[in-house]
Amino acid sequence: MKSPTHPLIDALHAHSPEFVDLRRDIHRHPELGLAEQRTSQLIADRLNSWGYAVHRGLAGTGVVGQLRRGSSARRLGLRADMDALPIQEASGLPWASVHDGVMHACGHDGHTTMLLAAAKYIAEQGHFSGTLNLIFQPAEEHPGGARLMIEQGLFERFPCDAIFAMHNMPGFPQGQLVFREGPTMASSDDVTITLTGMGGHGAMPHKATDAVVAAAGIVLALQTIVSRNVDPLQTAVVTVGAINAGRANNVIPQQAQLELSVRALDREVRDLLERRIRALVTAQAESFGVKASIDYKRDYPVLVNTAEETALARRVGIELVGEDRITPQAEPLTGSEDFAVMLEHCPGSYLMIGNGAGEGSCLVHNPGYDFNDDNVSVGAAYWALLAERFLVD
Ligand SMILES: [Zn+2]
Ligand SMILES: [Zn+2]
Repeated sequence: MKSPTHPLIDALHAHSPEFVDLRRDIHRHPELGLAEQRTSQLIADRLNSWGYAVHRGLAGTGVVGQLRRGSSARRLGLRADMDALPIQEASGLPWASVHDGVMHACGHDGHTTMLLAAAKYIAEQGHFSGTLNLIFQPAEEHPGGARLMIEQGLFERFPCDAIFAMHNMPGFPQGQLVFREGPTMASSDDVTITLTGMGGHGAMPHKATDAVVAAAGIVLALQTIVSRNVDPLQTAVVTVGAINAGRANNVIPQQAQLELSVRALDREVRDLLERRIRALVTAQAESFGVKASIDYKRDYPVLVNTAEETALARRVGIELVGEDRITPQAEPLTGSEDFAVMLEHCPGSYLMIGNGAGEGSCLVHNPGYDFNDDNVSVGAAYWALLAERFLVD
């Protein structure tokens, strides 16, 4: 397949050595969520030098760069995340992390760089009319910087008519632009169930109330929610990822604890899962004579891309790389993403850019993962073209 030749990609490609160096510098110095001090400083310094009005401090390390031009009242938000993961890097690359146990294994170093490369181009050569808000967000992986920025006034200070974000994705050819209207990433809820019985001697179970047996019964019963309560044409996941109870074979422990990850691609299914988990755990516990306490934490919501904004995002993708290098309506994913919270406040779309599908490509969150630097110019050109098409008189 011939490589994309849009003049914007060529223009961005001319500047790409500077930004490839920057991407590798950020990769070498990864920082965990809410601790992105160095990254935040580096972003703010560059935005300042290109003439952006720079605001710092939302969610601590968040940075917003604003550029206004012309007379249009339209306001666009482009968001990049900048946090790394608590993973020991094993890529063996010259630009591997210098921080033990911390690594950019999800390519957020690339997201930050693509948006910075676009920022420079737009400031120097961009044609637009309106207000451009570039949002650099901390803590996408944990504990959720999008919600913090919004709670601290992101959209009051920087109102947006639409907001967009882009994530790199292995498994798709390099530079492929992947779109989807509607529910695209799953909600993610964390549930901790504590079962309290009465401890006792392992030889005399009839004089105790066994929390372990209750826990085992509940784990199996939970499997019926997806298989028997959820519509077979809908998506749902109930995973019991941890069971903690007991320390010795001859002691019946007092307590058992279960930790669940619960996912759905539909808001009503999400509600159904919570109702069924609560009802089932409560009734099962009662039947075993133990007490159940349920700590149900709703974390990231379902990510829903709005129709009009996704249609625009797709048109811009086709204009930039051509029909055969886009996926117009991809399958949804059961992973989660905190940009979903921004989309609950503002219409917009979340797209993906293929990181390459060849041999040796691994999944994000793998200790060998690396962002594909050929995407710096493609991703930056995409942002620049989207800004030109959205911010018009
Ligand atoms: Zn990730
Ligand atoms: Zn990510």
